[in-house]
Amino acid sequence: MEKYPRYVTPDHEYFDPVELASETEKIICRNHSRKYTDFYATGVYGGIATGYTVGCCLRCVFCWVDWSRDFPEKYGEFYSAEEAYAYLKATAKKFKVNKLRISGAEPTLCKQHLLRLLELVENSDFNIFILETNGIKFGIDKDYVKQLSRFTKPHIRVGLKAGTPEGFAERTGSLPESYELPYKAIANLLDANVSFHVASMSADGRFMTEK
Ligand code: SF4
Repeated sequence: MEKYPRYVTPDHEYFDPVELASETEKIICRNHSRKYTDFYATGVYGGIATGYTVGCCLRCVFCWVDWSRDFPEKYGEFYSAEEAYAYLKATAKKFKVNKLRISGAEPTLCKQHLLRLLELVENSDFNIFILETNGIKFGIDKDYVKQLSRFTKPHIRVGLKAGTPEGFAERTGSLPESYELPYKAIANLLDANVSFHVASMSADGRFMTEK
């Protein structure tokens, strides 16, 4: 990748999200550690402790993530899976919530970190771990999804950005043909019998046409 893609501009060139995922992982993953900017609790899902991750492989125009998405080298600190779990647990205790999640940018980047974190959650008293993803990594890596099936705690939320190649490219800045990957992620999750649901931008007519 010649130039690391930041936010989408009117004259931008479409990028390959798989390549961007791997370039981003070079910045935000280190062995079993990955970058986070914060740990906090929020009221969604009825109250949940959240680890806010750094770095994504899409550049959605409606994204509300801060600059850590576009400049991952400048933001966040590395946390091992053990450290991230300890912060999530302490946050859950402080705010009296019993669900955990990692969110922010793209939590499925840094596979080793996520799988180790899920092991720690699996052996804990927490009974649900929400994972919010754009589906790029789970679309290209069936084995990754298969590995999730050994855990009982994760529930995956796959965010669909578009239903057509053109719409996907327009909204995410990535190559039109990559629009299939989130749908492949859904197929892989179904095959592996992993708990998930799909969320789409379709309720907002500014971003997705009825078609
Ligand atoms: S996939 Fe999510 S985090 Fe990544 S750019 Fe799109 S909205 Fe932002």
